[in-house]
Amino acid sequence: MSQRILITGGAGFLGSHLCDRMIDAGNEVICLDNYFTGRRQNITHLLDHPNFELLRHDIIDPIKLEVDQIYNLACPASPIHYQYNAIKTMKTSVMGAINMLGLARRTKARILQASTSEVYGDPLMHPQKEGYWGHVNPIGIRSCYDEGKRCAETLFMDYKRQNGVDTRIMRIFNTYGPRMNADDGRVVSNFIVQALRGEEITIYGDGSQTRSFCYCDDNIEGMIRLMNSDHPGPINIGNPNEFTMLELAEQIIELTGSLSKISHLPLPQDDPKQRQPDISLAKAELDWEPKTELREGLTSTIAYFEKELSEK
Ligand code: NAD
Ligand code: UDP
Repeated sequence: MSQRILITGGAGFLGSHLCDRMIDAGNEVICLDNYFTGRRQNITHLLDHPNFELLRHDIIDPIKLEVDQIYNLACPASPIHYQYNAIKTMKTSVMGAINMLGLARRTKARILQASTSEVYGDPLMHPQKEGYWGHVNPIGIRSCYDEGKRCAETLFMDYKRQNGVDTRIMRIFNTYGPRMNADDGRVVSNFIVQALRGEEITIYGDGSQTRSFCYCDDNIEGMIRLMNSDHPGPINIGNPNEFTMLELAEQIIELTGSLSKISHLPLPQDDPKQRQPDISLAKAELDWEPKTELREGLTSTIAYFEKELSEK
């Protein structure tokens, strides 16, 4: 049955892919965004679709709409952008969650929060299971994001317990793919853009820190399954294949055929040393696991950036 779906942060990287999937499935989509890191070009192809509506709005302000489901994705996700105005990032996570949960309560809509592996901080448990409470610095430069997202999870659970709101919490691990911002500073987009431009590939620290990269299509599939399951979460959605940043750089150099050399820059404060999701809960509850190998996902992401850079 067609539903009216609100996607906050819908003009961003993940939000725009979710808009596509929801429209393809025959739903009505309200895409809400303040364009801090999102771009109209991510959703231009949907603007003339009769089931698609675009709203410029900031979720730190309340809004009245009639909806069946809410995907709350609005929040800058890359360290450069979330640290640019740290207080605003916290407001987006906390006041935004309160406003969206209030809307869900009034309309009896089901609501999903795009949370993050950052709630585990620099983890002492490896791989990270949902039951792990994390190892997070409350006063560092990443705290506006990490603690903002942790507070949003608390609010989701309290609105569920206290007001019976139908909530879902998804803990997203590093996700990449077409429509990432070329200048958002995240590692996959940085390395690809640097390789394509023949610039030095900037590895922070010695490059031995690890991340587990999930392709966007796999992420969106997990998100939709969680929203439509009976499990409230939190559930980890990510790819358990773990790589060092050095391995990532080498693979991108190989796939692009670039002549770029690797250079090393200082490691940012509180940069987690390792991160890998335990996805047994997602497998058991959602029958979900990622399908896209890093090589395959990087190839389509490189093709996207090649086109992007040639049009500039
Ligand atoms: P993104 O920056 O591309 O998208 C975020 C979107 O939210 C942008 O369109 C931005 O303009 C919008 N936005 C920001 N603040 C807003 C506000 N106050 N009001 C309305 N709109 C606002 O990032 P993304 O990678 O697509 O991330 C989407 C969500 O997933 C975020 O909540 C992020 O924290 C979460 N997440 C992403 C990753 C990842 O690796 N991509 C990992 C963990 C969690
Ligand atoms: N990183 C890097 N070079 C870059 C950008 C990032 O070596 O140009 C490193 C960063 O220090 C971190 C990892 O890559 O260890 C992932 O960084 P990103 O900002 O993509 O995500 P997060 O740290 O939030 O997982």
